[in-house]
Amino acid sequence: MTIMNGKEVSKIRNLNLKQKIDKALKTASRPPSLAVILVGEDPASLIYVESKVRQAKSVGINSIDIKLPESISEVELIKEIEKLNNDPLIDGILIQLPLPKHINEGKMLDLVHQEKDVDGFSVLNQGKLFQNRDSIISATPKGIINLIDHYGINLEGLNCTVIGRSLIVGLPISKLLIDRNATVTTCHRYTKDLISHTINADLIVVATGNINLITADMVKDGVIIIDVGINRIGKKICGDVDFENVKNKASFITPVPGGVGPMTISALLENVYQVYEDKFLK
Ligand code: NDP
Repeated sequence: MTIMNGKEVSKIRNLNLKQKIDKALKTASRPPSLAVILVGEDPASLIYVESKVRQAKSVGINSIDIKLPESISEVELIKEIEKLNNDPLIDGILIQLPLPKHINEGKMLDLVHQEKDVDGFSVLNQGKLFQNRDSIISATPKGIINLIDHYGINLEGLNCTVIGRSLIVGLPISKLLIDRNATVTTCHRYTKDLISHTINADLIVVATGNINLITADMVKDGVIIIDVGINRIGKKICGDVDFENVKNKASFITPVPGGVGPMTISALLENVYQVYEDKFLK
């Protein structure tokens, strides 16, 4: 059994990225830049934003965090997004989710200019992904594929079960697996008899936010497990998989924390570089 060490793999990827940025700076007039918009003071979001900003800085991306009050109106937030859209010094814009309930999340995400949409959440980038056109791919599914590739896993012909059908994880990772010629079943809350879809799967991606949704009796020997879930028990974080028991049957498995999470951040930073490269270096 191999534990897929997202922490280590992301360090390697970040180091490669830093080298690319250092090299780019020999000809480009400025480093890549990322603006992170945080609305309100959700403690988990604050931690994510700080981590993204810190890691961006560590690879040489100039990162600006824009903290806005919980009470901000949609109109005011639209103005902030437009300001960043029109700022030639900003390459990537990320809106930290969730937004307060009075703000229409989809509408805000769609306002981010498609060329600055480093989260890949806009309708344009998602549409392009589903039409096999060049697009900015959302960080979590992109990070998962990077991790799978790092471990040399060939997805062709594998039976993959994805649990979760969100726009930011379940659906795009299902599409990316299909693109690698896997056969994909996508499950959700209304799936009957979940075990019948997991027990024969060669690879399972689970992204639901339910502790112990996947237990050892639900998987076959040799299964590859990608656990995206983030659940909090007090100060401890765990995924959607009963890791201690499932790991004994798995050939590859991601831990939580230290699996998909760090891969997501490195994929985000790579997206910022992609936008910058398109602008300055091609
Ligand atoms: P959403 O809440 O948007 O989607 C959850 C999905 O899981 C839905 O499609 C839902 O089905 C499905 N689901 C929920 N309960 C069950 C169940 N009992 N059986 C089968 N399917 C179920 O969440 P996200 O996709 O945004 O995130 C999923 C998890 O991944 C969360 O824990 C989140 O914190 C984590 N996450 C981790 C990231 C990382 O970098 N590691 C990045 C992004 C998310 P239905 O559609 O029918 O409601």
